[in-house]
Amino acid sequence: MKQTILITGGAGYIGSHTCLEFLAAGHDIVVFDNLCNSSLESLRRVKELSGREFPFVAADIRDRAALDALFKTYAIDAVIHFAGLKAVGESVEKPLLYYDNNIAGSITLFEAMQAAGVKTVVFSSSATVYGDPASVPIREDFPVGATTNPYGRGKLIVEQILGDLAISDPEWRIALLRYFNPVGAHKSGRIGEDPRGIPNNLMPYIAQVAVGRREYLNVWGNDYPTPDGTGVRDYIHVVDLAQGHVKAVEKLAAGPGVRIWNLGTGCGYSVVEMAQAFEKASGHPVPYQFAPRRAGDIAQCWADPALAERELGWKARRGLDEMCEDTWRWQSLNPQGFEE
Ligand code: NAD
Ligand code: UDP
Repeated sequence: MKQTILITGGAGYIGSHTCLEFLAAGHDIVVFDNLCNSSLESLRRVKELSGREFPFVAADIRDRAALDALFKTYAIDAVIHFAGLKAVGESVEKPLLYYDNNIAGSITLFEAMQAAGVKTVVFSSSATVYGDPASVPIREDFPVGATTNPYGRGKLIVEQILGDLAISDPEWRIALLRYFNPVGAHKSGRIGEDPRGIPNNLMPYIAQVAVGRREYLNVWGNDYPTPDGTGVRDYIHVVDLAQGHVKAVEKLAAGPGVRIWNLGTGCGYSVVEMAQAFEKASGHPVPYQFAPRRAGDIAQCWADPALAERELGWKARRGLDEMCEDTWRWQSLNPQGFEE
């Protein structure tokens, strides 16, 4: 059934890819973003790639009046809530900013939804809510709570707020999607991850080394209890991740309650394996040097994605080579990101 989906944070990295997937699945979308970490150019390219027009509202999720006006103007069926700040290090330096933007902003959004009678939401959570897991792969029923920074605590708190909301009003249909490590870009090379300043995350950093914007990669720690001593993560192609959102919304149509799904591949790769895979995909060297561990990092983390496969009929299909090739296409065609 065709739905109208509000996508907060839809101009961002995961949001822009998700816009495309909802359009491709035949749904209508409305994008809401204050552009604090993105640009209009990404949405222009989503329109170009999809051949579809859609409304864009430039506003902040903490702006209740803007949200109320939006819900009055458009008959929204479901909300995909990406809008938020995501730099872990910055969240340690500016906890109040993060709690205000990510928690107060989410509360304002949910209040506006409740007032408008829109009670279906998909929330962008993160594997960070599991903290340092006792074992891998990580299942959805593993304990949560040992988060190490304000960014992660914010994700957990919003998950709990949504849980309380569902208890207070059984009409809510809520999906908490716990992402592992999103990487890659759309096949066209027209949209991708465009971090401002020095990238915090591994894949965009590697891509900037390969394209010659940075000299070498610092590998944060080579003394972890992993096969090569470097950190192991579950990297998932952003298009697979985006498609998981379409499946989640379609599943929520089946009934109310809170559902939790890991979105990961179930495979772990080390930092060094990632650098080597990128060299192969790009044909460019990715020199690296070992550096001390980064505070707050864990040794290894990967998903058990079986529940999402069973309940959503969703499975990540794109492997590591494709993740690197698509990142490279985006990076080499747009060395300065969306700034042309
Ligand atoms: P992104 O920064 O590219 O996208 C977030 C978007 O939200 C941006 O376009 C930004 O301008 C917008 N935004 C931020 N605060 C806003 C506000 N107050 N009002 C309106 N718009 C606002 O980040 P992303 O990587 O696409 O992440 C999307 C979501 O997924 C975030 O909630 C993030 O925490 C979550 N997530 C990301 C990762 C990851 O590694 N990328 C992993 C797990 C979870
Ligand atoms: N990492 C690294 N150098 C970098 C960035 C990241 O060695 O410049 C490592 C980091 O220690 C972790 C992995 O790469 O083991 C993934 O880090 P990222 O920040 O991308 O995601 P996280 O899993 O920490 O959210």
